[in-house]
Amino acid sequence: MLQGVIPGRMMQRPLLVSSLIEYGKDFHPNSEIVSRRVEGDLHRYTYAAAYRRVCQLAHGLVALGVTPGTRVATLAWNNHRHFELYYAIQGIGAVCHTVNPRLPVDQFKYVLNHADDRVLFTDLTFVPLLEARRADLPPGMKIVVMTDRAHMPESGLPDLFCFEELLAGQAEHYDWPEFDENTACALCYTSGTTGNPKGALYSHRSMVLHSLFARNADLPCFTPRAKFLPVVPLFHVNAWGLPYLAPLSGAGMVMPGPGLDGPSLFKLMDDEAVSSAWGVPTVWLGLLAEMAQQGRKPKALAHVLVGGSAVPPSMLRTFQETYGISVVHGWGMTEMSPVGSLGILEPEMEALPQEEQLRLKAYQGRRMFGVDLKIVDEDGARLPHDGEAIGELAVRGPCVVDGYFNDEPASAAAIDDEGWFRTGDVASISPDGFLMIVDRTKDLVKSGGEWISSIDLENAAMAHPEIAECAVIAAAHPKWDERPLLIVVPAAGADLAKEAVIDFLTARVAKWWLPDDVVFVDELPHGATGKVSKLTLRAQFKDYVLPTA
Ligand code: AMP
Repeated sequence: MLQGVIPGRMMQRPLLVSSLIEYGKDFHPNSEIVSRRVEGDLHRYTYAAAYRRVCQLAHGLVALGVTPGTRVATLAWNNHRHFELYYAIQGIGAVCHTVNPRLPVDQFKYVLNHADDRVLFTDLTFVPLLEARRADLPPGMKIVVMTDRAHMPESGLPDLFCFEELLAGQAEHYDWPEFDENTACALCYTSGTTGNPKGALYSHRSMVLHSLFARNADLPCFTPRAKFLPVVPLFHVNAWGLPYLAPLSGAGMVMPGPGLDGPSLFKLMDDEAVSSAWGVPTVWLGLLAEMAQQGRKPKALAHVLVGGSAVPPSMLRTFQETYGISVVHGWGMTEMSPVGSLGILEPEMEALPQEEQLRLKAYQGRRMFGVDLKIVDEDGARLPHDGEAIGELAVRGPCVVDGYFNDEPASAAAIDDEGWFRTGDVASISPDGFLMIVDRTKDLVKSGGEWISSIDLENAAMAHPEIAECAVIAAAHPKWDERPLLIVVPAAGADLAKEAVIDFLTARVAKWWLPDDVVFVDELPHGATGKVSKLTLRAQFKDYVLPTA
């Protein structure tokens, strides 16, 4: 405590997620949420109507036995029912655990059991997946299918409930409980470089602050006059905060459901006059192809937020110069709720020549309010923000995790001596605050926004008797941004072909994890400690062109 300070005289009112949807209902009752349902049609309603269903769902959850602290999983696309689940689960003090349906089988099993989910809400699409993985589900977990009675599937899954029946007849008002703002509200697992995923456990306070901080950014989409479309999934780090920012700002929200291909996105954006859309570079390739095909942009699209991976300069140029759509490049992490930095230019930067503006926009942006950034050398010493020094990036702030859910080893490794979170990204920071991500220390490949563990792939390959040593690095790919490249040193006397290695791995890893190419070398570069130097390898294969590219 600082000597001499005196306490303020303001109320200690908790920051709770329920206040966001209440505000949206009171202040922006007529803003709309439109969503493509998995049943095929479009659903539309206002924030006022959404609020009534959120209340009904909250009653339904209580009737199902959900109590404060209960982990409730969701396995769903971006749609209105998923949105309702966010608020109903969190509003009653339970924890909304969004599960990524693309997780490999073992990780899927791990996260449901590690979270100890008691109830799981699933879109119709994922019922077959649950049936196939029935033995992996936590014992006694109830499953609610997000549909009405007419669409309920024939299924042998036990404890199966119907979403619309859960709501039917429930009161359209809920007295939201008040509790400590540091209470957990949501849980999202992120890939570990090896082994099990790690859970980022958000609090009500961090979620409300993240919404306020992001709203504070000078983005054109947070007004009741805007309509935004989250392509970024609600199952991946809270769709970058959009479900919370929507009712707060009154912006309309258009949810694409499972229709994420270029033509589907184009049509929905065009029909619904979407003004701002958010997603990873891979999805924009599909949209841009459709725009080229039609020779125009979706009629109201004025702004695109690209994050999750670096935006390719050519994409930036096409959006801005060919179609007049302004691009903001963002960087963040699951552990940061997620927004860390945004490429928003100051007025004097907007006066620069176009080429210079594009160069600035290709960087990962400048820190969002509430996020502190530092770069450090191998000994943890701070490096200058001079645009030249390159070091590991660490962050701090009220929306950054201070460890992982029930995972002490991972928590200890994540936080440095000064209490900052180590991002595993390698960056420089310019004097005017632009972040430039140049590499990462974490052994992961990011393909279309989803993580592949290099180490898990290497371990699978090393089980091959004719492989002496191997390493996986990310190689650039025009569609997926990165794809795994497997570099193999064959055992002495081995006669190994690429096809044989791929066949071997096919039985051991998820199909979308399979390396796009296998390269045979005589030896791998090693660092001082004997570990394979991925840094050297990445430099060696910097210009490698994958056969799939
Ligand atoms: P996730 O937690 O899955 O959202 O992934 C966060 C990680 O994705 C970061 O630590 C970076 O490695 C990478 N990432 C996110 N945004 C960008 C970006 N704009 N440019 C480069 N890498 C990014």
